[in-house]
Amino acid sequence: MLRIALPNKGRLTEGARDLLERAGLAFEMRERALQASLGENFTAIFVNARDIPEFVADGAADFGITGSDLIAESGRAVDVLLPLKFGGCRLAVAVREDSGIRDIDGVKPGARVATVFPNITRQFFQSIARDITIVPVSGAAEIAPHLGVADIIVDLVSSGSTLRMNGLIEICTVMESEAVLMTRTGATPDAVLGREARELVTALESVLRAQGKRYLMANVPRSALAEIKRVLPGLNGPTIVDVLNGGEMVAAHAVVDSSGIYRTIADLRELGAQGIVVTRIERLMP
Ligand code: AMP
Repeated sequence: MLRIALPNKGRLTEGARDLLERAGLAFEMRERALQASLGENFTAIFVNARDIPEFVADGAADFGITGSDLIAESGRAVDVLLPLKFGGCRLAVAVREDSGIRDIDGVKPGARVATVFPNITRQFFQSIARDITIVPVSGAAEIAPHLGVADIIVDLVSSGSTLRMNGLIEICTVMESEAVLMTRTGATPDAVLGREARELVTALESVLRAQGKRYLMANVPRSALAEIKRVLPGLNGPTIVDVLNGGEMVAAHAVVDSSGIYRTIADLRELGAQGIVVTRIERLMP
C-alpha cells in the first residue's frame, strides 16, 4: 500500500477529495477518520496541510497533496509531480489603505511584517535587499496593521475581498500558489514507486485534462463539412459518422472547449446542424 497525505481540514480538503474521487479512487473511511483506504493501492492519511511537505520529504507518506505555498514555506525538497488546478491563490504584500504606501519601494527598512509565512517572507525581502522585522502570527494577519502590531502583512489572497474588508490594499505579489501532487525527491514514479504511482499520475492528469472540455455531437449536412471542420477543430478534427437513413445528414463528434461552447453551438446551427448534444467528459487521454 502506498500512503498519500491529504489535508484533514481547511480550504484544500474538499478539492483534493473531489479530484481523487473523479479519478476513480473511492474513499473508505476507517480508524476515527484519520485514515482511509483509497482505491486498491493507496491509504490516505489525513494531516494538517502545513505538515504534508515534511511528511513526504521524510518518507512518512509516498505522496502528498497540498498548496505549493506550504512546500515553499517548509523549505523541504520534494518533487512536484502535477499541478492540480485548484486552491489557486497568491501570497501578496498588503498595506493599510491610509498608509500612503503604493508599491514595494514604499516599504521602508525596519518595517514590521506580520505573516503566517515567515520563511518565504524573509527570503523575499532578502531578495530585494530590504531589512525588515518579521512578526510571526498563526492566523488572521490582516488584523495586525490595525492593532499596531505590524506595518504591513504578507498573506494569501484569492479574490481580494478579505483585504478590502479589512481596509488593506495589495502592493506586490510574492508568489503564486495552487494545490500540487508531490513525492519525495528522487522517488519519481519511474524510478522507485513503480506502476501504481504512474497510474495515479495518469489518472489525475486525465481528469484535469477533461476539465474545461465538453463532448459535442450533432447531425450536420454533408455539404457543410468543410465549414463544420472550421467550427469543430476537436482534438484531431471532428469524427464524422454515417447516420442510418440520414440522407444528406452525417453525425459529427468532437471534443471542444467549454468556454467557447455558446459560440460553437450558434455557429453549428447556422450551418444547419440538428440534434446537438453536449456532455461532460470524465477523463481525457490523448
Ligand atoms: P487552510 O489554512 O488549511 O484552509 O489551507 C490553506 C491553504 O489553502 C493555503 O496554504 C493555500 O495553499 C490554499 N488557499 C487557496 N486560496 C486561499 C485563500 N484565499 N486564503 C488562504 N488559503 C488559500
